Amino acid sequence: MDSNEFRKQGHQIIDWIADYFENINHYSVIPDHPPGHTLNKVPASPPLDSEDFKTIFQDFEKDIIPGMTHWQHPNFFGYFPANTSFPSILGELLTSAMGAQCMSWLTSPAATELEQRVMEWLQQALGLPEDFTGVIQDTASTATLCSILTARERFTKINKDGFYNQVKPFRIYCSSEAHSSIEKGVKIAGFGSQHLIKIAINEDFAMIPEALESAIIEDLKAGFQPLAIIAAFGTTSSTAIDPLEAIGRLAQKYKLWLHVDAAFAGSALILPEKRTLLEGMEYMDSFVFNPHKWLFTNFDCSAYFVKDPQALKHTFEMTPEYLKTEQDQQVNNYRDWGIQLGRRFRALKLWFVIRSFGLNGLQSQLRNHIKWAQKLSQMIDNHPLFERLAPVPFNTICFRYKPAAHTGLNEINQKLHQSINKSGKLFITHTKLNEQYTLRLVIGQTNVTWEHVSTAWKTIEDLAKSINPT
Ligand SMILES: *Cc1c(COP(=O)(O)O)cnc(C)c1O
Repeated sequence: MDSNEFRKQGHQIIDWIADYFENINHYSVIPDHPPGHTLNKVPASPPLDSEDFKTIFQDFEKDIIPGMTHWQHPNFFGYFPANTSFPSILGELLTSAMGAQCMSWLTSPAATELEQRVMEWLQQALGLPEDFTGVIQDTASTATLCSILTARERFTKINKDGFYNQVKPFRIYCSSEAHSSIEKGVKIAGFGSQHLIKIAINEDFAMIPEALESAIIEDLKAGFQPLAIIAAFGTTSSTAIDPLEAIGRLAQKYKLWLHVDAAFAGSALILPEKRTLLEGMEYMDSFVFNPHKWLFTNFDCSAYFVKDPQALKHTFEMTPEYLKTEQDQQVNNYRDWGIQLGRRFRALKLWFVIRSFGLNGLQSQLRNHIKWAQKLSQMIDNHPLFERLAPVPFNTICFRYKPAAHTGLNEINQKLHQSINKSGKLFITHTKLNEQYTLRLVIGQTNVTWEHVSTAWKTIEDLAKSINPT
């Protein structure tokens, strides 16, 4: 493909993208395809000769699009959103055009310095402690793993010695509602998942600090070495908020590392009225949130903030001869701030988004999402046949259908869930809270409006009526 052909196809693809967003309401949110459907459409062997781009693109429309789940559909209310926006898409396009490797300052000076600056912007925008330093990671899972590894290196020489000299097993603490990426990180870091202690939660699904302290004391008595606590600011099931102040005091008292997983709800901290929810932030050693979830910046872009960047760098630094540069003492070489060597220029799309929306624009979008969630939550509270199953501090509503005097509610709600998603009109996901099958609706899509929410609710109500309890 030469530049003329690129220009022609490129213009058409931009038009296609604009059309996609204008017409996205007409797509079914999730496809109705059995496994293997798309696989069978794509030839088993790669082509030997060049294919016409027009043909390739036609196949994309014909074979790929119908098999996609449309995360940018305003009726996508599942999981947490992975929202994007036009400025983000344009930033991503330029990132891919330059194809820069942002591993060292020298390999991408402007990318490195822009990353530093936009992380400072986010730190201010979220009201994070002033002495925190940020770096972009691919995902919250990676950031949390980096945090666990930094904690390990802070208290041991395992990076150099391996685990062989470690006689006391370490203990890591999180709540029973914490995200699975924490257990994954604990496994990868070599602690062993049996040493991740899941602390009991209260009726709002938040960690009970007294239970945390008891666990720490018991572990000390039993000869374990408590190492780190991972607190949630917005759990994945119900956006519960662990009480950071109390947990932070325990971290200080027992000299434990404290990481805060705010992957989804962290974005809400751009709203000054939500900052009180993160009281105790001065105790944190690290904090992660994903602009790629609820800040209109397309996947991947995870913002990781640390109190002590030296400790982070000490954990990951590797400078072979071929990567040494004259500027190493004066600049950030972000390859030393995480797991990857090669890194994408992710700061660009974030810079486009923050400037294009402005902080006011970002705030008003998030305030709308939260306002609509409160409104729907009220409607559920007032509804005789539905019940809310968790507090709604942000924009995630956990609820279930509860026809009068009926048992087998788990089966009924699972059925309702299936019929909602089968309708193609909206998409929601589920969780279990207190062993109850829980429907979960998240209002965080870039282009969602109250119209979409109220229509979605109407659909849920109608489908519920047609569920025959068995
Ligand atoms: C989504 C989520 C994660 C994982 O995020 P990735 O960026 O996909 O790794 C971790 N923790 C919480 C609370 C989440 O909601």
